[in-house]
Amino acid sequence: MNNSADPSRTLRTLETLESNVRLYSRLFPACFSHARGPFLLSETGERFIDFFSGAGALNYGHNNHQLKAAITEYLGSDAVVHGLDMATPAKVDFMETFNSVILRERGLDYRFQFTGPTGANGVEAALKLARKVTGRHNIISFTRGYHGLSLGAAAATSSRFLREASGVPLSGVTIMPYDGYLGDEIDTAEHLRNILLDSSSGIDAPAAILLETVQGEGGINVAQKEWLRSVQALAAEIGAIFIVDDIQMGCGRTGDFFSFEFAELSPDVVILSKSLSGYGLPLSMLLIKEAIDIWEPGEHTGTFRGNNLALVSATAALNIYWRTEIFSQSIYRLGTLMRHRLNAIARAHGDHFTVRGRGMALGFDCRNTHLAETAARKAYDRGLIIERCGPADEVIKFFPPLTIDPETLTKGLDIFEDSLAEAAPL
Ligand SMILES: *Cc1c(COP(=O)(O)O)cnc(C)c1O
Repeated sequence: MNNSADPSRTLRTLETLESNVRLYSRLFPACFSHARGPFLLSETGERFIDFFSGAGALNYGHNNHQLKAAITEYLGSDAVVHGLDMATPAKVDFMETFNSVILRERGLDYRFQFTGPTGANGVEAALKLARKVTGRHNIISFTRGYHGLSLGAAAATSSRFLREASGVPLSGVTIMPYDGYLGDEIDTAEHLRNILLDSSSGIDAPAAILLETVQGEGGINVAQKEWLRSVQALAAEIGAIFIVDDIQMGCGRTGDFFSFEFAELSPDVVILSKSLSGYGLPLSMLLIKEAIDIWEPGEHTGTFRGNNLALVSATAALNIYWRTEIFSQSIYRLGTLMRHRLNAIARAHGDHFTVRGRGMALGFDCRNTHLAETAARKAYDRGLIIERCGPADEVIKFFPPLTIDPETLTKGLDIFEDSLAEAAPL
């Protein structure tokens, strides 16, 4: 195809021209040229099953044909692609569709704020709004949380490695124990409540409580329904804005469109990004309750807000997948299949490993960094792209596209089973 289909040349170019900060090209050292659905193809003709899905940005698979048709048609018609936040039919269509297909169906009522295109941009906007609404500065976030790496978002992120890379003191956030962090016996929501209600605890009254309902980067840690409901109630009680970061777990990953539906939450602010556009195009937005929409016009702005091409694929994804319950049911079904299989694999290894997660966001905790690394590398060698997470990268993260067919899903799980057996002989 072109003269870069020489692996040693690809490697040379990366090593000489790309910053040392590059990461995924090290973990998955092929040059990927094509992709479709759950498959990635390398320039040299190898085919990989993708259980990584762009860290959750490709819930509907790579180059989803139906979504591609919508954006190809849009591009071909010379419709407006970039328009800052000017009104366009694409944007009106997206908001009306999201409002009727997602919000009204769930009894939710929000305004849309389009932010810059990254997840971190959305987190920054949410924190800024919460501080403006409450006149307070402190934010509560949680151990093993991940909220992005711009300074405000990094302050709410727990990893020491990532925090130290910021190079400045990260302030304005207090990190508290997430559900289960202190063991099953201790209710950390109760602990948080005691601290925030105690005017002499040393913790400033928060503008917001920010959380993921399942911690993606932090190791697929699952918060229980009651814990989430207690934290939401506490936020309301103390006048703090309750923010759910649904950047990674939203858009169907846990089975429902929003990851908090199972707990019947009603967050003041919801942050969406990653799979929102449906096609891997950058798009972020906040859902905010009307009562706290106190922005002055233009007070928070950005050049790439609500990119029209991304809005067109986002609307198509809503129309194709979310107008009925069928897609959600399929996610639960495939998630159950995955969980049973992973549990069986853990059992075969004497239950030394644990499986956790919700829907199609599952983690296989190897409790050992080297073992997880070896298993993931062996899986790659056998044609499976799979990522790790957790504080020591000791958890293997199962994130296939939600649209994957059961045969390919099973094939990927077979590869994992063989790779783990090689890394940790039975
Ligand atoms: C990925 C992610 C972010 C940051 O999004 P970027 O687009 O990488 O800035 C924030 N929160 C969560 C939960 C994420 O998974």
